[in-house]
Amino acid sequence: MTDIFSQAKKSIFTISKKFNLDQDEVREFLEPHRVVEVEIPIKLKNGQIKVFKGFRSQHNNKLGPYKGGIRFHQNVTKEEVMALSLWMTLKCAVADLPYGGGKGGIIVDPKTLTESEIEKLSRKYIRAIYDVIGPDKDVPAPDVNTNPKIMGWMVSEYIKISKEKKLNMPENLLYATFTGKSNRDHGLAGRTEATGYGGVVVLEELVQRLGLKPESQTVAVQGFGNVGQYFAEFAAEAGFKVVAVSDSKGAITEKNHKFRALDIPLVLKCKKEKGMVAGCYCVGGVCDLTKGRPISNEALLELPVDILVPAALENVINVKNMKKIKAKIIIEMANGPVSYEAYEYLTKKGVVIVPDILANVGGVTGSYIEWKQNIENKKYTKDETLKMIEGIIELAFDNIWNEAVNLKTHLKEASTVHALKKLLGRD
Ligand code: GLU
Repeated sequence: MTDIFSQAKKSIFTISKKFNLDQDEVREFLEPHRVVEVEIPIKLKNGQIKVFKGFRSQHNNKLGPYKGGIRFHQNVTKEEVMALSLWMTLKCAVADLPYGGGKGGIIVDPKTLTESEIEKLSRKYIRAIYDVIGPDKDVPAPDVNTNPKIMGWMVSEYIKISKEKKLNMPENLLYATFTGKSNRDHGLAGRTEATGYGGVVVLEELVQRLGLKPESQTVAVQGFGNVGQYFAEFAAEAGFKVVAVSDSKGAITEKNHKFRALDIPLVLKCKKEKGMVAGCYCVGGVCDLTKGRPISNEALLELPVDILVPAALENVINVKNMKKIKAKIIIEMANGPVSYEAYEYLTKKGVVIVPDILANVGGVTGSYIEWKQNIENKKYTKDETLKMIEGIIELAFDNIWNEAVNLKTHLKEASTVHALKKLLGRD
């Protein structure tokens, strides 16, 4: 099987060919400018030294500094980070942000480490890539299994090194090197919710254009982490019936497919207590497992819901399960959750799929506002942030929708072509 980066390139190349973009320019564009590979030795609690491998792929900076998250996961590969950085370049162009694309990752299962080991790993990784990042060079952020706390360690290490080097960079610019930080570290109110919130703005735009009412739509969300949890919360607030959610340990839904809307804030509270959503069937103010049914993550994807929201990892909808998908709308909140073949197959069947580079743009849009806030030494409120995100996303959605109408094609091809047109050409 070809790796995920080759697949990503192939899919973008095929689209660009179909719409007559310059083949040589596209080929050149697809390759990352630079991929940094680092070895990070950490002394574990038991005294043993373990060497972790990390990457930072800087794909393209034509529209602004490289931008993108850092993930901690046991399945991280160089090719995965490269593919994700390429998608970041397209994503920032779709949202019309002054950014290029980048992505970082460390091959590690953070669940096997203590908090202080994760802190050491985070700090050493930043020491290793220090030279290639900065507020106008490359601006990292959270991604899978990373969060504001980890960004806090990273920015504090970055500041420490800058002071050691006597660089005299103003403090606000040092903070602008990372986004997705906590409030204490000059983060942005609303950044944590931004990706999920943006996804719901996208969904509302879509259902409005399709003439559907949120109240009539059942939703299943795969992944109850940084993204899925807030998506579920905002979707429920907007009137959608969120009837199934999952985390890495399993999913929960109604027993007999007579779907009832889950009480998302209560599921969240229950998950915090129990450590997983599988035992948290909460409806109408009570959690009562006898009425619910724990199911697997795979089974969640195949539920007869209207809207499916894969919000965890890539390639979860693929040739193996695509024929069993029953949803009519898919919102790609994770990066690359629907494989190329599955996308083609489901689209032909009439399923409307909002691609990741449009659906999950809320995260990097929030990051942009945080970066701007740090550079300008300002402080935005959560309401101001969410309003700005809404404005940027409504515009992006409108642009892509119109592009799809003009090109007579689906949203993935439309967003890819829209982004490529912006990115190609001579400097
Ligand atoms: N990791 C998120 C993404 O894939 C956010 C990136 C960022 O804010 O830079 O879009």
